[in-house]
Amino acid sequence: MRILSTALVVVITLSGAAMVQANDISKADDIIVAQTQSGFQRWVKSFRAVALKNGVTARTYDRAFRGVKLNARVVKLDRKQAEFSREIWDYLDTATSPKRVKNGKAMLVKYKKTLARIEQKYGVDREVVLAVWGLESSYGKNMGDINIIEALATLAYDGRREKFGRQQLLEALRIIQRGDITPDRMMGSWAGAMGHTQFIPTSYQAFAQDFDGDGKRNVWDPRDPSDALASTANYFKKSGWTKNQPWGVEVKLPKDFYYGNASLKVKATPARWNELGLRLIRGGKIPNHGKGSVFLPAGSDGPAFIVFKNFQVIKRYNNANSYAMAVGHLADRIKGGGYFAQEWPRGPGALKLDEKLEVQKLLNRAGYDLGEPDGIIGPKTIDAVTAIQVSWGQQPSGKADQEFLKVLRKKAY
Ligand code: CA
Repeated sequence: MRILSTALVVVITLSGAAMVQANDISKADDIIVAQTQSGFQRWVKSFRAVALKNGVTARTYDRAFRGVKLNARVVKLDRKQAEFSREIWDYLDTATSPKRVKNGKAMLVKYKKTLARIEQKYGVDREVVLAVWGLESSYGKNMGDINIIEALATLAYDGRREKFGRQQLLEALRIIQRGDITPDRMMGSWAGAMGHTQFIPTSYQAFAQDFDGDGKRNVWDPRDPSDALASTANYFKKSGWTKNQPWGVEVKLPKDFYYGNASLKVKATPARWNELGLRLIRGGKIPNHGKGSVFLPAGSDGPAFIVFKNFQVIKRYNNANSYAMAVGHLADRIKGGGYFAQEWPRGPGALKLDEKLEVQKLLNRAGYDLGEPDGIIGPKTIDAVTAIQVSWGQQPSGKADQEFLKVLRKKAY
C-alpha cells in the first residue's frame, strides 16, 4: 500500500491533479513523464539565464545540456528513499560485511604507496579513507551511472528538492567549465553524488584535490582512485580529524549506570567515565582519547560505546550515527580488529551475521547459486529460501530465521 500511495504522490506532483486508477499507475507514469518532458525542456531554457548570471558560459551550458532529458528513474528513486529504514544491526551487517572487509584489506595492499602519501599529507588514517571508499562505492565498483546534469536538473525541476537541485546544478556546471571532467563522463547517483567517494558538487568544489598533479580533479577515474581518496582525506582533515585516535571504543557499563548519561550531548573525560565504573569491553580502563559520550545505538540491550571527536568528524561527511559507526567499524576491521563483543537485540528467531553466512553457504551447497556468501539476506537469498522450502514440501515463508537454519542444518547439504 505504501508503494501505491507514493506512486499517486508522483502523479499528482507531476501533473497537477490527474485522476488515476491504482492499477494504471505505471502506465500513467509514462504518460505523465511524456507530458512533463516538454515542460522540462522549457525549464532548461529558462534556467540558462540563471546559470549565465552565475558565471556559467553559454558554451558550457549548452554543452552540458546536450541530450539531457527529465529522468524518470531519478524521480522514482527520490520518492522511494524516504521509506527506507532498517535496524542498525542489519545496516551494519551489510555495510561492514566480511566481503567488504576482505576487499578493504586487499585495497590496503594494492594502494599501499598512494595511501601512505595521502595519510602523510592530510593526517588522516588510511583505513578510514578506505572505509569511506568501501561504503560509498564498494571500492569504485558502484559509482553510479546517471548523468549528473540530468539528475540534478530533474531534482531542480521536479520540486521536492528544488533548492538543492539548483545549487548543486550550478556547481556541477562550474566543474565542467573548469575542465575537470567532460559532461558525458560526469556520472553519479540519482542524488548527485559523484565518483569513488560520492561527493556532491558543493563538497567537490570545497574539498576535491588533484593529487596526481595532472591539472584535473578526477574523482571518477576507474583506474586511479588517488584524486578521490585524497579528496576524502582532505574533507576529513578540514573537518578536524585527529590521526591515530579512535572514533570510539566498545565499553561495558556498570550495573548502576545512569542511562540519562547515555547521550551524545553528555561529554566527559575518560577519567570521569572510569570513575563512574565504565570499562573497556575486554577489560581495562578507558584510555585518554579526549572527551567522549556514551553511545547506545540499539538502546540498553545492545553494545555500548564511548565515542570521541572523530565520530563527530565522520558525521560531517554524512550526518547519521549509523553511517559514522559503519565507517569507524569498517576501518577498525580493515586494520585487523574484530566484531563487537556484545550482541545486538535482534529479536526472537533472527539470525546473527555468522548464521546468515552459514545459511548462504548451505544454500550454495544445496545447489542454489548465491555467489560468495556476504551475509546480506537480499532478494536472491530469499528466493532460494522459498525455493528450498517448496522442495521440502513446506508452505514457504521465504524467511531466513533460526527455524529455517535448524531444518537446513538437519538436511545436511
Ligand atoms: Ca588529477
